[in-house]
Amino acid sequence: MGLMTKNEYIESLRKLKPTVYMFGEKVENVVDNPRLRAGIEATGATYELAEDPELRHLIVTESKLIGEPINRFNNPPQSIEDLVARVKMNRVLGRRVGTCFQRCTGQDCLASLSVATYDCDQKYGTQYNKRFTEFLKYMQKNDLVANAGVTDMKGDRNLGPTEQPDKDVYLHIVEKRADGIVVRGAKAHQTGSLSSHELIVLPTRALRKGEEEFAVAFAVPADAPGVIHVVGRSSLDTREEGGCDCGNVRYSKYAPTVIFENVFVPWERVFLCGEVEYAADLVLYFSAFHRQSHGGCKAGKIDCMAGAALTMMTYNGTDKVGHHKEKVIDMIHRAETLYGCSLAASYEGKQKPSGVYFIDPVLANASKIHEGREMAEATRLMIDIAGGFVADLPSDKDFANSEVGPLLKKYLKGASNVPVENRVKMFRFIEKMAMESADTISDIHGGGSPAAHRLTIYREADTQARIKAAKRLAGIEE
Ligand code: SF4
Repeated sequence: MGLMTKNEYIESLRKLKPTVYMFGEKVENVVDNPRLRAGIEATGATYELAEDPELRHLIVTESKLIGEPINRFNNPPQSIEDLVARVKMNRVLGRRVGTCFQRCTGQDCLASLSVATYDCDQKYGTQYNKRFTEFLKYMQKNDLVANAGVTDMKGDRNLGPTEQPDKDVYLHIVEKRADGIVVRGAKAHQTGSLSSHELIVLPTRALRKGEEEFAVAFAVPADAPGVIHVVGRSSLDTREEGGCDCGNVRYSKYAPTVIFENVFVPWERVFLCGEVEYAADLVLYFSAFHRQSHGGCKAGKIDCMAGAALTMMTYNGTDKVGHHKEKVIDMIHRAETLYGCSLAASYEGKQKPSGVYFIDPVLANASKIHEGREMAEATRLMIDIAGGFVADLPSDKDFANSEVGPLLKKYLKGASNVPVENRVKMFRFIEKMAMESADTISDIHGGGSPAAHRLTIYREADTQARIKAAKRLAGIEE
């Protein structure tokens, strides 16, 4: 079928009939729901870029598998250049939409499964890589979006998956049949699950012998029978519903909890089924890939924040204030160090036995720790520069009111050559970027908790080489 245009992508979502709940009610029309549409538009930007003559080179690449141009989001990295291109593409997209564009988790699942299914087949003679490759071809040929289901509910954290009073808190296999498996459980924080055609599920943690029923990876359509998307709240959701005070009205983010209520998966879409040691590998590959992805998109979001801060300096008449310029420099250097760390993780990548390239996991996790801290600081600096109206700007409806509106416009006027409407719009945009809870929290928890990033660094870093260096310099010979 080849690459889709953005409009074709949106029309393709219309053909899906997912089961969706939001605010206690069923949502029948996902595509035209204002909350969900803003998220779909953000993913739509990944199609827009592929149509843009100036940016197309960033996002369209040739598939070795099907010999056709494909969207890079469906391309497990085949080279160091591919790893680097992922970060560059994400920065451009982050700057374009100023929020999460939701297509990277699927990309990271495809890359992780390309590596782990091959390794598993080599060890056990299974057929996972062959099945997965057919699925990948289907994704590439039809230019589809995949969403990653990784985070299980986990129940009582003191207990392992088999010890839980209700085993469903870890998604697991409840039945094996001649034609496939039946699974039950739920996955949390499924950003963009309704912007996607396919849901790819991976295990959430390392598993051991006796926990085979939880060692499962598969793909199902987003509207498969038994799949239920429950859209979570965000700090701005009722504003989006009402269509006012939105700030960035074009693009946003939503994150459902997705319940798998006895979902049937045919064998050709099962990519792991009981081989417990590959659960840990999938978690490592996915989380490292996704932490690298974040370095690009969040650098792009800080670009938007710095742009907003600079604009507000002009609108407020503070563009010559020295400490404001210093703060913008602090924002830019945070974006660049984050971007640089993700690029470094890419340049230090290595080829795996399957032929797919994997980033340097220590640098990718270092990038993510940096992001968790520095996004908060960039947000603080942006608010500091913009001023107090980020917190309590009157509603758009008050500005439109015939009695109070003119008074508000009179008192909200900043620099004399700037229309008051522009100043108000920019305040609202800054408020959105600062308050967008789903995105701000993902700066901390996206791709795993900060503790998980640290653990990965400790596990994957060559600590022995460091000890050896120190002992040599101290003159200790053993
Ligand atoms: Fe992509 Fe994750 Fe960034 Fe969203 S937060 S744009 S899914 S890397």
